[in-house]
Amino acid sequence: MININNICMHYGPTMALDHVTFSVQKGEILGLLGPNGAGKSTLMKILTTFIYPSKGKASIDGFDILEQAQQVREVVGYLPENVPLYMDMRVDEYLTFVGNARGLNTVAIKKRFDWLKEACGIAPVWKHGIHELSKGYRQRVGLAQALIHDPKVLILDEPTTGLDPMQIIGIRHLVKELSKEKTIVFSTHILQEVEVLADRIVIINEGKIISQGTKQELAEEAMKHRCHVLTVKESKDNVQKALSGLLHAKNISFLDESKDGFVTYEIESAFGDTSAEEEIDRLNKDRNWRIRRFAERNFNLEDMFISLLSKQ
Ligand code: ADP
Repeated sequence: MININNICMHYGPTMALDHVTFSVQKGEILGLLGPNGAGKSTLMKILTTFIYPSKGKASIDGFDILEQAQQVREVVGYLPENVPLYMDMRVDEYLTFVGNARGLNTVAIKKRFDWLKEACGIAPVWKHGIHELSKGYRQRVGLAQALIHDPKVLILDEPTTGLDPMQIIGIRHLVKELSKEKTIVFSTHILQEVEVLADRIVIINEGKIISQGTKQELAEEAMKHRCHVLTVKESKDNVQKALSGLLHAKNISFLDESKDGFVTYEIESAFGDTSAEEEIDRLNKDRNWRIRRFAERNFNLEDMFISLLSKQ
């Protein structure tokens, strides 16, 4: 349904996207995961033909984003990061306006209204002024405008940002429901969000894709790593220096320094390789460190995300 091929985007000297390539299958929910400034919004703006890329090609439902921008806009519903609402309109007026702008006639708009009220849960605020709505309802009205023309593809930029936990659950539920008949791409900087919602995950940082796969594939990848937590009474500098000399550690991250002078580090190594553990053991003995904790724990998706970002 969506093909993205070597997309690059320069804003002056900033390379916001660097040869991004991936595709999204029909009916899939794809989660675009990355920290702030990774390039997620830029990619979404390009897919929705809001801006044009500096280089590369992309198509949605077979329509080229550069050559057939109008057709692309017809098949896509877009919820930008800042929801485009007119505060001085009522919800029904605003959605009528968007429906008209989308080229729907009055009969078609009325038909969609019945569905939208129910699907987006906006019936209770239907005649309310948009300025009086809570953030959660504003987000729902934003989703309704993205859905008014019954698009095949939904592109949602950080759809749950700024919502409270109940509102987040509500939006997640809605997105899951919508995925029964639509292809959905959503962005987030929150790992749990993709874990709950996405069928497939693309991890992006500094404009580059650093990993992608199904949750299962990424979890299996994570299981190829092991992780040790070490808490010792010593200065951070000394521990950092000593650990950076480990030959079998793949990644070392500082976690915490307590008031009573203990520092905590995490040491990542390859699964099945006990050499790092033996090295740390030796180090502990050589330095005569006072150990509060030295333990192995499971490496999960979150560890992998952090590890990938810090490696890059
Ligand atoms: P994300 O959505 O992942 O937070 P963005 O796509 O908004 O990331 O931004 C990617 C990079 O491009 C950042 O370094 C950001 O500062 C830069 N950027 C985004 N929009 C513009 C713009 N209009 N002009 C200049 N730089 C921009």
